Amino acid sequence: MKVIHTIAALKSLLSPIKLAKQKIALVPTMGALHKGHVSLIKEAQQHTDLVVCSIFVNPTQFTDPKDLEKYPRPLEHDIQMLKDAGCNIVFMPPVKEMYPTQEDWHIDLGPAEFVLEGEFRKGHYQGVTQIVKKLFDAVSPDIALFGEKDFQQVLMIRHMVDHFKMSVELISCPIIREDDGLAMSSRNINLTAEDRQHSLVLSAALFYIRDNFQRESIATLLTNAKAMFNAVPGVELDYFTIANGETLQPASQKSQPNLVALVAAKVGQTRLIDNMLLF
Ligand code: AMP
Repeated sequence: MKVIHTIAALKSLLSPIKLAKQKIALVPTMGALHKGHVSLIKEAQQHTDLVVCSIFVNPTQFTDPKDLEKYPRPLEHDIQMLKDAGCNIVFMPPVKEMYPTQEDWHIDLGPAEFVLEGEFRKGHYQGVTQIVKKLFDAVSPDIALFGEKDFQQVLMIRHMVDHFKMSVELISCPIIREDDGLAMSSRNINLTAEDRQHSLVLSAALFYIRDNFQRESIATLLTNAKAMFNAVPGVELDYFTIANGETLQPASQKSQPNLVALVAAKVGQTRLIDNMLLF
């Protein structure tokens, strides 16, 4: 596995691969890798000849500087994990490489930018699409893989790709969970033992919704799911919604297509998100 730090080195490494008409996949990450990330690498290997994984903690997508500072960066562990997964290239640029100068970025991502995560983390998806565009330009991948764990992010990146009429194919992959249901996340490292217990309410509420979806009304499902949160100390709900998976607007009828339940909550000092497809 090659570890690359500059765009120029990455491009010269990839150029003969492209000339040989081999297919390239990109898996963008912020590191602190876990089995969720590895599942994306494994899926990428099914579709392409060469997998590039990027590790970059992107400052422009953080709204809270403390959150950026405390974001875990276990680099040696990450490199070992990528080697074990059979990744071909890891791209780990320093911040100056991706942002050599101060730049303004704003694109129209549609109204879904401003709800849910976009409401609680203002400007987050501008920062996400800004860095993903830079990574797509650096790698020119045939496919790029993202996790459904960040449901709204996948939607926003689809809008960005449409906006620039990019030819990359996006593949979204299912959420990988711990045995007890908690969605794997780099942020789980920050949970105390007590938080870790409390965090189970997120997946428990989503599984409740999925299991009772045919039986109950949307209003009843949401009332009962929110009551589950009220019963757990130290967990502060930001949102819990059943929404249309394209617009992210709250669903009023179960017969609507593409419904998804989405949740965000602060567990102790750690903010977690999760979701469940209902179609
Ligand atoms: P991150 O490093 O958190 O920015 O995540 C990098 C990629 O891994 C994103 O596309 C995430 O959606 C995806 N990802 C994170 N956690 C999981 C998970 N538990 N299951 C599947 N994909 C995930």
